[in-house]
Amino acid sequence: MPRVRAVQIEKTGGPEVLTVADVAAPEPGPGQVLVDVEAAGVNYIDTYRRGGVYPLQLPAVLGSEGAGRVAGFGAGVRGFELGQLVAWKEAPGSYAEQVLVPAAELVPVPEGVDAHTAAAVLLQGLTAHYLCTDTYPVTGGTWALVHAGAGGVGLLLTQMLKLRGAMVLTTTSTPEKAELSRRAGADEVVGYAEATARARELTGGRGVDVVYDSVGKDTFDASLQALRPRGLMVLFGGSSGQVPPFDVQRLNTAGSLFLTRPTLGSYTQTREELLARTEEVFGWIAAGDLDVRVGHTYRLEDVRRAHEDLEGRRTTGKLLLIP
Ligand code: NDP
Repeated sequence: MPRVRAVQIEKTGGPEVLTVADVAAPEPGPGQVLVDVEAAGVNYIDTYRRGGVYPLQLPAVLGSEGAGRVAGFGAGVRGFELGQLVAWKEAPGSYAEQVLVPAAELVPVPEGVDAHTAAAVLLQGLTAHYLCTDTYPVTGGTWALVHAGAGGVGLLLTQMLKLRGAMVLTTTSTPEKAELSRRAGADEVVGYAEATARARELTGGRGVDVVYDSVGKDTFDASLQALRPRGLMVLFGGSSGQVPPFDVQRLNTAGSLFLTRPTLGSYTQTREELLARTEEVFGWIAAGDLDVRVGHTYRLEDVRRAHEDLEGRRTTGKLLLIP
């Protein structure tokens, strides 16, 4: 029976539970496409799954995002060819040489976008896209605060906000990260402790229209304080930990604020929606309007270091695993 190399966990825990194992090569069932993985995306959600925040059936091959070439089909799959370059944002087991992707999740990668860029942009790029087009439909003159401005989502979101004409204040933890965030188009970059005061100063005391907060536990309170009356708090991650239970009366006293906790799945509910968002993001890349920064590529064997670096705040942009 053919075997493939894959990053497996037998129990949840820290990066030490990640091991590279030889596992049975996957066989495509109905509606599934077998893909030879060229690059797998490393995402924060992989660390939540590894740690048990989001439960998995064990043992499990980790990973969810990637790009590669079509190597086989199950029954009923139409519209893909052997050898075609494809990408996906959600296929369990993507940290491997081969993975099965539901055909409905697979998107074709157009000319002008290479496999590494496609793997790097799908999950974070579609996230940045829905955050600025639909969660808060940003227009010229919108003031947005983006935490972790030099991160994977942060760099993409900043560029997309600028494409839509917004004014952008970001936070980062080091001068090097601040410089990267500025190069992505941020109008102002500050440390986390200064974010609220600077948001008020820049908006004549009023507060920003929208805060995009993926840091969570450590930034949540300050984010609420940075908003204008009836502003929108978008809590979309918990890189510093999950936000504890919340008293909704705080929205009232802080100025009739709105709060949402979105996920990408709710913004790619149909195949049409997935393809429309992907097409726009790939279009910006091909046109040179969106720079996808791959901060670091790791071999499959170095997966522990990839997770340690991500959780240890040592990374910028996107991390990729190369099987
Ligand atoms: P990032 O590249 O943004 O990495 C996390 C960054 O957060 C760090 O580099 C660091 O930047 C900052 N940070 C601040 N405090 C901490 C802390 N205590 N520990 C670790 N990092 C900290 O990651 P991603 O772009 O992959 O993901 C960003 C967030 O977006 C994650 O929380 C993820 O879960 C979420 N997400 C949500 C989605 C959704 O649809 N809801 C989809 C995709 C991602 P600095 O050093 O500058 O502070």
